[in-house]
Amino acid sequence: MSATLFSGIGELATCEPTLGDESSLGLLHDAALVAEDGRVAWVGRASDAPASDERVELGGRAVVPGFVDSHTHLVFAGERSAEFEARMAGEPYTGGGIMTTVAATRAASSGELRANAGRLLAEMHASGTTTVEIKSGYGLDVATERRILAVARELTSETTFLGAHVVPAEYANDREGYLALVTGEMLAACAPFARWIDVFCESGAFDEAESIRVLAAGVAAGLLPRVHGNQLGYGPGVQLAVEFDAASVDHCTHLSEEDLDALAYSDTVATLLPVAEFSTRSRYADARALLDAGVTVALATDCNPGSAFTTSMPFVIALAVREYRMTPAEALVAATLGGATALRRTDIGRLAPGFSADFAVLDAPSYVHLAYRPGSQVIAQTWRAGARLVAPRGEEE
Ligand SMILES: [Zn+2]
Repeated sequence: MSATLFSGIGELATCEPTLGDESSLGLLHDAALVAEDGRVAWVGRASDAPASDERVELGGRAVVPGFVDSHTHLVFAGERSAEFEARMAGEPYTGGGIMTTVAATRAASSGELRANAGRLLAEMHASGTTTVEIKSGYGLDVATERRILAVARELTSETTFLGAHVVPAEYANDREGYLALVTGEMLAACAPFARWIDVFCESGAFDEAESIRVLAAGVAAGLLPRVHGNQLGYGPGVQLAVEFDAASVDHCTHLSEEDLDALAYSDTVATLLPVAEFSTRSRYADARALLDAGVTVALATDCNPGSAFTTSMPFVIALAVREYRMTPAEALVAATLGGATALRRTDIGRLAPGFSADFAVLDAPSYVHLAYRPGSQVIAQTWRAGARLVAPRGEEE
């Protein structure tokens, strides 16, 4: 494969602190990048750029690492706009609407699930996302959970078995029966398509003892743990995640001092999902407390039809800056390197030699525009492994 020189980069955020201005963003100005065999081969000042076979001129635009969206529920059928409308009119969010999506997903064909997820994934690519994690959890029976994960695996290697999303209605009087299924036959059917095991550890979903069973069974089946926790109230999710050395605990809207301490002394990332809080009109997580305690923070969309129906990481960044009081630099690091860390990936999330050549070209001179221009189409181009991801609706320049 030939080497391609990307020149005319007005501002390059590498997220590699040993480069450029040696800030957390490793910022370079008047920069260039060489991609070879899908990887970054060189970054530096444009005037020092080596000769290359091909050249792409970026006209002074800013370049950032491709976003790593480490928490999505992309494979489902149907939509829940009526529930959203009712919630905005004052009804509280309880998570109960999940069963609406489960019914629609069970009834959908694999082709329909594939088409819906593919459309959403194309939106993500157009918004600068180059790596996406996808969870199951809208099947809640063996055949549908397996089908969801088979579709997800066609789209990404970062697939997560979330049979323990909620106890489905048909097991309402037999929780033990559902736990036996989720840790037994369903896990066995799904594990070949999954890298991760997840559990919704929350009152109304799975309690501490149940969550331990789910995670332990998943780990025994060769999956790596991650946890949904502390979204709707204080609870054991964070402590459990740390005890299991989970890669990430996601939501973290309600954290105690003990939770902060546990995270600070662990390798578990706190993944924050501000669109879930925005779209359920809930309180926002205390990102400043996490960052000030030294916890690694990731930002993700939580893309799902109930509580956070967005595919846009730039919108997530804008919310994190406005509502979490993260700096634009902190939010960008959390949306790239943070997401990579939440997936325990060391080949993505940075633009430094050896990393995958995954990046977004902004129609702007600075990464700050990601937060400064909320709701605008700031992403001009998305490249993954050195190849351009084609715009989904023919939106070529
Ligand atoms: Zn989620």
